[in-house]
Amino acid sequence: MADLIVLLGPPGAGKGTQAKVLSRELKLAHISSGDLFRDHLRRKTELGILAQGYMQRGELVPDDVTIGMIRERMQAADCAKGAILDGFPRTLPQAEALDRFLADSKMGAVRKAPYIKVAEQVLVDRLSGRWSCRAGGHVYHETFNPPKTPGTCDVDGSELYQREDDKAETVKNRIRVYFEQTAPLIEYYRGKGLLAEIDGAKPIDEVTGELLASVR
Ligand code: ADP
Ligand code: AMP
Repeated sequence: MADLIVLLGPPGAGKGTQAKVLSRELKLAHISSGDLFRDHLRRKTELGILAQGYMQRGELVPDDVTIGMIRERMQAADCAKGAILDGFPRTLPQAEALDRFLADSKMGAVRKAPYIKVAEQVLVDRLSGRWSCRAGGHVYHETFNPPKTPGTCDVDGSELYQREDDKAETVKNRIRVYFEQTAPLIEYYRGKGLLAEIDGAKPIDEVTGELLASVR
């Protein structure tokens, strides 16, 4: 049985930041649907070209292509022990498809769904100061978590950049889409007894401590 943890929370809550640490601590793969889409975009694959418009507008990529991409990723050898899912599922049909896929593939079921809670007004400040690493999806913040050398990733030395969809107008749309389409997942996982509410307003290492305690 694989160990599967779904990280929930609005854009900017800290899912990517925490997924990197959890993946290292728990020795589980880190699957970020946003990173997978950005990689397709860079490689100009058919999927990347399809996803591009949705991502630029801050909308969700359609469920069928997103589910297909994640199913394929989860069949890779590094997911045999389990994975931290970051950014997927983001709709009820995605969550249901994930449950079916885990059952059909004999991987098991989601074990825990920590929900990183952060007030809406904090999200814009977090995203407008976010710097992302081109190579490994590591994330920094110019004030809250600055890299040692501005513009360079501490972990792999690659270039840091500001995401096109982190500009204020797109962020507003992403937050609206989150409340409409993704927030219902909180009740979905609460209903299954899998939800753990985590205070995401605390400093990064304190959030990590709460998260680790919730999944161990
Ligand atoms: P998500 O993956 O949920 O969109 P990220 O992990 O990319 O969020 O974090 C968004 C931004 O907020 C990044 O710039 C990150 O450095 C910063 N950040 C993450 N967690 C915290 C925290 N607990 N306190 C302050 N800033 C944080
Ligand atoms: P993220 O890196 O998680 O902020 O995701 C960036 C963008 O990728 C989102 O705004 C969506 O356009 C797309 N995306 C990522 N994950 C999903 C998903 N599970 N379902 C649909 N679209 C997604």
